[in-house]
Amino acid sequence: MSIQSQFIYSPDTAGNAGSIVKRIAIFGSTGSIGTQALEVIAAHADKFSVEILTAHTNHELLITQALVFKPKYVVITDEKKYTLIKNALSSTDIKVLAGEQGLIDAASYQGYDIMLAAIVGYAGLKPTLEAINAGKTIALANKETLVVAGDIIIQKAKEKNVKILPVDSEHSAIFQCLVGEEKNVIEKIILTASGGPFLGRKPNFLVNVKRDHALQHPNWSMGAKITIDSATLMNKGLEMIEAKWLFDLTPEQIQVVIHPQSIIHSMVQFEDGSIKAQMGLPDMKLPIHYAFTYPDRVVTDFPRYNFKKPNTLSFEEPDIKTFRNLALAMEALNKGGNMPCILNAANEIAVFAFLKNRVGFLDITEMIERTMEKIPFIQHPTLEEYYDSDGEARVFAASLIEM
Ligand code: NAD
Ligand code: MG
Repeated sequence: MSIQSQFIYSPDTAGNAGSIVKRIAIFGSTGSIGTQALEVIAAHADKFSVEILTAHTNHELLITQALVFKPKYVVITDEKKYTLIKNALSSTDIKVLAGEQGLIDAASYQGYDIMLAAIVGYAGLKPTLEAINAGKTIALANKETLVVAGDIIIQKAKEKNVKILPVDSEHSAIFQCLVGEEKNVIEKIILTASGGPFLGRKPNFLVNVKRDHALQHPNWSMGAKITIDSATLMNKGLEMIEAKWLFDLTPEQIQVVIHPQSIIHSMVQFEDGSIKAQMGLPDMKLPIHYAFTYPDRVVTDFPRYNFKKPNTLSFEEPDIKTFRNLALAMEALNKGGNMPCILNAANEIAVFAFLKNRVGFLDITEMIERTMEKIPFIQHPTLEEYYDSDGEARVFAASLIEM
């Protein structure tokens, strides 16, 4: 055993994290979460190493990241870019994989401890499932994985004794509020939502909303898909479903509250009526960092909240008559089965079409609603049936674009 490998983190030594290097695999390293995760790792090079980096199409950034962080593997899902990357890394020992199969192969590689699941959308599901099967800890940013097949993911994680550590800021907040409360009963959780750039607007305004306006989030800088989901409030709907699976809740135990300042990241109300909240500036580096250092807290130089500045924290009810995507997500949450999977697939197609200026902002809702009506409902789907429902919903939703 080499000197270095004696200090490599393993599940047996997980509780004693002092000087142990945690080996991280970043799936989706070129995205908003992925690049922020690399900043976190760079600031704590003594605590973390990078073993895998993956990207969809951005080969230039993937090559730069690989040369800096020197992982064992890089994966590019766009196979046309394989040779470019292979050539650029030819003087290194880094192995290059390509395609969806490359992601699956990398996910099952033994030499890492934590997968940061930061691919956007349904594409993150299969590699995450593979990592769970391989017994890896999952730092989960990709909420769509739990929206599509939450029952199967959670069941598999239990079987394999795998921890799923939330990275989504709301779920990280709830997770942090629950530390030390393992035996206590949750009455409900309160998911906070900024309300996005169109808070207070009505349909007569939303009908004319354009892509560039919807991409301007007031508090968070994120990838394009989640930014649109935040503007339609679908993001909060997906997060309700994510919370159901992560914290084993009924739909009645999940409340959404608009909190435009994004300082309280979410709350837990216990059965004695006491409410715990987790607060901080809106910065995804904090929940990413916490998932990596858990169960420890480690010093950071992130900016701190300033209580000396005049500030108001306010709360209001979401307007689900106007932002109907949230109502549709609640319907899917209540119905269960493959309905959240159908909702997610239709939403991905509709948001992509909106980003290409092919459909209007309110058409997104229309497309999702029609797809939910059309695709056959299955109460207890198998994994294959989830894949099929996703595919059918995509084809149907896409057929609505030319309407
Ligand atoms: P992003 O669009 O910035 O990055 C997505 C990453 O996934 C990129 O590295 C891209 O190369 C990769 N990718 C895209 N399509 C792919 C495909 N088909 N196959 C393989 N890889 C693919 O997205 P993001 O904002 O970083 O979000 C990533 C995930 O984290 C999403 O599920 C999002 O909901 C969740 N999340 C993001 C934030 C945030 O602040 N950005 C906050 C909470 C949760
Ligand atoms: Mg969130």
